[in-house]
Amino acid sequence: MLLVQKYGGTSVGNLDRIAHVAKKVAKAKAEGHDVVVVVSAMSGETNKLIEWAKHFSPTPSKRDMDLLLSSGERVTSALLSIALNEMGYPTVAMTGRQAGIVTDDTHTSARIERIDPKPLRQALDEGKIVVVAGFQGITPDGRVTTLGRGGSDLTAVAIAGALGADKCEIYSDVDGIYTTDPRIEPKARKLPKISYDEMLELASLGAKVLQNRSVELAKKLGVVIEAKSTFEDVPGTIITKEEEIMEKPLVSGIALDRNQARVSLQGVKDRPGIAAEIFKALANESINVDMIVQTIGHDGHTNLDFTVPQNELELVRRVMEPFGRECGSIEYDPSVAKVSVVGVGMKSHSGVAAKAFETMAQENINIEMISTSEIKISMIIDEKYSELAVRALHSAYELDR
Ligand code: ADP
Ligand code: ASP
Ligand code: MG
Repeated sequence: MLLVQKYGGTSVGNLDRIAHVAKKVAKAKAEGHDVVVVVSAMSGETNKLIEWAKHFSPTPSKRDMDLLLSSGERVTSALLSIALNEMGYPTVAMTGRQAGIVTDDTHTSARIERIDPKPLRQALDEGKIVVVAGFQGITPDGRVTTLGRGGSDLTAVAIAGALGADKCEIYSDVDGIYTTDPRIEPKARKLPKISYDEMLELASLGAKVLQNRSVELAKKLGVVIEAKSTFEDVPGTIITKEEEIMEKPLVSGIALDRNQARVSLQGVKDRPGIAAEIFKALANESINVDMIVQTIGHDGHTNLDFTVPQNELELVRRVMEPFGRECGSIEYDPSVAKVSVVGVGMKSHSGVAAKAFETMAQENINIEMISTSEIKISMIIDEKYSELAVRALHSAYELDR
């Protein structure tokens, strides 16, 4: 089999753990598989680099950030390669560029445009284990890019797709996908299988166990993912097509996203084009606006509320400055969180949303904003109630049974 294995930050968090990963990779190779390994930076390393940049500027250039952040994954790929070599396994360590990963120029959240699989193929044909630095690529004009937080998952899926690998194994400190983050709700249950669409919603809504774009790409390319534990040898969770899952629960999981902030514009001059101008200005800075609520205007004024990633709030403030003149006031609230209920079963059942709202009411949690799609309900709440909300919803939908 051709396997792509990805090891996350905790799995390569210190030298002993890198040695442990080397043994796991060597075992797969010794069993006769062709192996491409993708690694993250050591846990905490990317955050440390971000802090270092913030020491000099609250809004560093995204291009410089990419050069800086890509270094973390290079360290671990080289170290793992050295460790495997010493064990007698021939390897090639590669940066994103050397692995042929070409991206667009959206610095800090670049999209993979294509992969030239030649260098990877050649190394595999020579019987070598390939160790790729995750999370990074190169623009056609040679600038280093990174693929967004958690982006090593995307590297792994993209390589699995480009090589037609049999499976993409994503190893972390948790042994699969649970009905909610087991760190918040110890009663969470491990799912044997989950559909791409549900996993995509969970990941997009804050379950950082898999990066959302990696799931989107896996669905598009038909790459089967298994989420597994680095530290325990037990079966993980298979992420695959909905058709391959026999038992379809009404709700499969609860997700929490703390990286949310709310921007409230009050008394905005109600004229055609104002929303377009605001959201275009934000889009120009690649800021992802999530929920948007505009209340019905009166006296020629209206209120506009929207959410943005909390870690982009400084940039958002800068972008919003020129709009201050057209608003009565602009308020920024970084202490909100988004809690979401996800399940394909919602497509065919009613009352799922009502139950979510009822549960919040019982816990006395105020819902500040709501958005829904075919398979999810999301609510913005005060961040201090986030864990309570997750546990209450988990129990309301009987996910612990
Ligand atoms: P890595 O650093 O290896 O990429 P992550 O920290 O990104 O790993 O993802 C693993 C973490 O995801 C787990 O430690 C767990 O706390 C968290 N997590 C959040 N939601 C879920 C979920 N539904 N199922 C499993 N783990 C989850
Ligand atoms: N090191 C990067 C991050 O922390 C990418 C990854 O780990 O997947 O986001
Ligand atoms: Mg991750």
